[in-house]
Amino acid sequence: MFKILHQNGNARRGEFHTVHGTVQTPVFQNVGTIAAIKGAVSTTDLKEIGCQVELSNTYHLHLRPGDKTVKELGGLHKFMNWDRPILTDSGGFQVFSLAGLRKITEEGVSFSSHIDGHKIFMGPEESMKIQSNLASTIAMAFDECIENPAPYDYVKQSVDRTYRWLVRCKEEMKRLNSLEGTINKEQLLFGINQGGIFDDIRIEHMKKIAELDLAGYAIGGLAVGETHEEMYHILDVVLQYAPLDKPRYLMGVGTPSNIIEAVARGVDFFDCVMPSRNARHAFIFTRNGTMNLMNQKYELDTRPIDSECQCPTCRNYTRAYIRHLFKAKEMLAMRLAVIHNLYFYNELMERIRLSIEEDRFEEFRRENVEKLASRVID
Ligand SMILES: [Zn+2]
Repeated sequence: MFKILHQNGNARRGEFHTVHGTVQTPVFQNVGTIAAIKGAVSTTDLKEIGCQVELSNTYHLHLRPGDKTVKELGGLHKFMNWDRPILTDSGGFQVFSLAGLRKITEEGVSFSSHIDGHKIFMGPEESMKIQSNLASTIAMAFDECIENPAPYDYVKQSVDRTYRWLVRCKEEMKRLNSLEGTINKEQLLFGINQGGIFDDIRIEHMKKIAELDLAGYAIGGLAVGETHEEMYHILDVVLQYAPLDKPRYLMGVGTPSNIIEAVARGVDFFDCVMPSRNARHAFIFTRNGTMNLMNQKYELDTRPIDSECQCPTCRNYTRAYIRHLFKAKEMLAMRLAVIHNLYFYNELMERIRLSIEEDRFEEFRRENVEKLASRVID
């Protein structure tokens, strides 16, 4: 299912085969929370900007329109008209970050909807059932996402429970995949490593979940309050214990520089709301660094955002025009900016893949880590 084509240092160039097509890795998954990319970007746009995997959100789709409705409509692929892989998160992160008053037990979590306050219960079986109804390509295990920093004893106890939940997720998915009415009987399960910033808890947990022979392994609970150095340290420590022949997914990360640093440590899958969220606030990523399109200096600037970029926005519109749209709060501003930023991220991954293939990833890393994180000079 996962094949490493080439390795350069710890950076891996791979292919992940699924029923919805092959994913070239390292890959950035484009986040479409409620089965749409915020900023009026459609699935036809996603094809044009090189998106390989779309990521949808279990918690949000369970609340609205409801996973049973999506199933009745033929599953998420049909619903949003997307024939490439879809990854659904487990809902865990939103349950712990968005939902109102919650209570955690061995069975799962009781919480109230952030939309209308009604009571919901979600545990491993419920999360798997929802994701099976959505019929995504890859389902994520239901876990507890802990904020950093959290007390050692709490993290330990939480991770033990998350492990027991993972075992239940695996059993439930096996059952759901065998049912007559299931849309995607080949649905895959990724487990999630947790443990805050405690090396020993992370390592022990990774060793245990590695034995479950899952389709992939995610590192969760990072980029939630710790420093970049702490995050890189955890990756260095924990990836040594992740199975070599399975994809590794760093959840919710991050900046272009974070991604390059994580690829250097052996990560294959990424996702983050940053490119689309920042774009909606006129914050743009380019090959030469970041820029804020609201800046006065772009008022008469007739150049594209990035003259090397081949995205639909850069091929057709000027900085001055997009700045005007932002100033006038016109919806098209967000759309054009999101299209550029996502194209930039997808193309960044393509450049990373090529540099690994050509054994010059370290050079690529040296050239880009600082440049991409700094403000553009022009
Ligand atoms: Zn562009």
